[in-house]
Amino acid sequence: MFLSGETSEGGENSVAVALGLLGDEWNLLIIRLAFLGARRYKDWHDQLGIANSVLSSRLNGLIDAGIFVRVPYQKRPLRYEYRLTECGKDLWQVLLTIWDWESQWVSDRPVPLPPMVHLECGNEASPILKCGKCMKPASVKDVRGAFGPSGSFERSVPRATTRRRSVTPDNGGIGLYSETIAMIGNRWSATALALVFFGASRFTDFLQLMTAPPLIVADRLKTFCDIGVLQRTTPAKGSSRREYRLSPKGNALFPLVITLIYWGDQWFRSPEGPALIFTHMECKSDLIPTLYCSVCDHELTRKQVGVGGFVL
Ligand SMILES: [Zn+2]
Ligand SMILES: [Zn+2]
Repeated sequence: MFLSGETSEGGENSVAVALGLLGDEWNLLIIRLAFLGARRYKDWHDQLGIANSVLSSRLNGLIDAGIFVRVPYQKRPLRYEYRLTECGKDLWQVLLTIWDWESQWVSDRPVPLPPMVHLECGNEASPILKCGKCMKPASVKDVRGAFGPSGSFERSVPRATTRRRSVTPDNGGIGLYSETIAMIGNRWSATALALVFFGASRFTDFLQLMTAPPLIVADRLKTFCDIGVLQRTTPAKGSSRREYRLSPKGNALFPLVITLIYWGDQWFRSPEGPALIFTHMECKSDLIPTLYCSVCDHELTRKQVGVGGFVL
């Protein structure tokens, strides 16, 4: 996929909002636990070993973003629980693509991942990304991206709002794997990952587009190479120019990136229109990223997917 198009004026677009919200280790963990049944403050506090101030600020931010809603469950004393809204529940595809990438590509797992079961057919399965229109596969090779009316690189990079602490939660295996955190657990990594799929390949591309300090850019690219998601190549013989290319392990992150951007577009689209328009080259339609069961080939729906004994 290579992104092309004009620049546009304005603030953060839906890509930046989605990357900012999900490109945060704690937000990812909080949302993931909510899908596994967490409702009350104590559920997250006890299971994640998270500081009160961090948990409160993340929950409030997720409420402001419309991912959670606070609902009273007890009158005296008044107590609230936090429920995923429709916008929050709609993240199930994003979480499922994270699960799939971890199960296929992260070999150093301290705790085995629970299997995904497609309840409709009863089989242990995995999600396959396809075009919702023609139902043919939608890999990175089959999809072209272009900026829409609210699209531009500047507007697709999340702005720093608060200084986020770098933390490695000790949460007894409930958490995401370290490679997942390294890929999308903070704003810079999530942005760099999206830029790779948008066509950035040289160090200077990332430096210019991320508007991050060079040390951070270099650190993220090195981490991606260490994990094996990016490979360094020399495009021409004798050239000193180095480029970064996605490895197969990196290409396998495409469903995660595309479902995350699509989710952002569904819920945070700018008034001018979409930030990105994806075309499925096979059928030339706008891509509706859709997950299918690897066993029965039926479309997956949220209520028909179970992971670790929970129905998403
Ligand atoms: Zn198609
Ligand atoms: Zn199935």
